[in-house]
Amino acid sequence: MMRKRLGFLIFGLVVLTTCSAPQQAPSYREIPFTEKPKNIILLIGDGMGLSQISAAMYSNRNRLNLEFFPVVGFHKSYAYNDLVTDSAAGATAFACGVKTYNSAIGMTRDTVPCPNILEEAEAKGLATGLVATATIVHATPAAFIAHQPLRVQYEEIASDMLDVEVDLLIGGGMQYFSRRESDRRDLVQEFKEKGYEVYSYFDRDLAQLPFNTRANLVYFTADKHPVPVAAGRDYLSFAARLSPYFLEKRSDQGFFLMIEGSQIDWMCHSNDAQGAIKETLDFDRAVGEVLNYARKSGNTLVIVTADHETGGMALNPDSKMGRINGTFTTNGHTATLIPVFAFGPGSELFSGIYENTEIHQKMREALGFEATTALQESDR
Ligand code: MG
Ligand code: ZN
Repeated sequence: MMRKRLGFLIFGLVVLTTCSAPQQAPSYREIPFTEKPKNIILLIGDGMGLSQISAAMYSNRNRLNLEFFPVVGFHKSYAYNDLVTDSAAGATAFACGVKTYNSAIGMTRDTVPCPNILEEAEAKGLATGLVATATIVHATPAAFIAHQPLRVQYEEIASDMLDVEVDLLIGGGMQYFSRRESDRRDLVQEFKEKGYEVYSYFDRDLAQLPFNTRANLVYFTADKHPVPVAAGRDYLSFAARLSPYFLEKRSDQGFFLMIEGSQIDWMCHSNDAQGAIKETLDFDRAVGEVLNYARKSGNTLVIVTADHETGGMALNPDSKMGRINGTFTTNGHTATLIPVFAFGPGSELFSGIYENTEIHQKMREALGFEATTALQESDR
């Protein structure tokens, strides 16, 4: 009880001391950074290319939190066997540093499981977390924690999550843990037996959790997919505000956190420009929360990027400031270069044009992890 009250106090403090007011932020050069980052927060806007970013910015009084990043680069998103990547191969490139086939989750092109940065961070004593606005077993978060030949193996991906000592999971997809079809395991129970605290939207809001930073935390935001922002989903920026404070208490070695704005991609698959703008602005609010943390901590490298662009989105000539006419060339993904934004110690590594796999190498280099293994070299 005492502990729970303490938890509430800490949590209240977190809420009170952070606010999204980018205009009042100190300039980059005024911030005293450490030489090397202790923490990395990687934010992935699934399907978020330059048009999605532009449309969101011009729909938001010409402002985005992304404008506060001093370092900008581009990555080449293509997969091993396809110029147009999917989210599985794209996330595996970031997580493992290998180009692989579309649909691979943490597997090389020869279907060999590849070590990922979250597992490596865990092995080195860092705290780790994954936050998504899709199911937590969906391709992007899955590639940071699971190893399966095909992205649709949701229950197998869920099982893999029990094999990694991850500190924080926030996302949908509870049914793949609690009401499985492929076996009789109850993974929610198994999490609890391992000492995790497990909550869901059935129990209470994310904002009402008793914050116990002495146990790993799983919070399910939906039974399957969380709803779009347009239908009322509102937890991403809150999760982004909370997660760094939670993880910094979980280890004094630092943390690795991946936060995904999952549904920009889905809106663009549906060629819904206004939906894509809403999802991109939701993601940008999460970026703002993370920036607030990074400004305070001084030892956190923040990287924002996408796995690929979706829809071949364009801002048509009749677009006006505040009234964007977004159109699309496809219902699928495209092969265009993808922007990378970096802030904090180690951010200078992210300028220029490079392969998506190099984001993995740059994150490892920033954290001071030793040179890559022979497996990764041969598969790059
Ligand atoms: Mg995704
Ligand atoms: Zn997609």
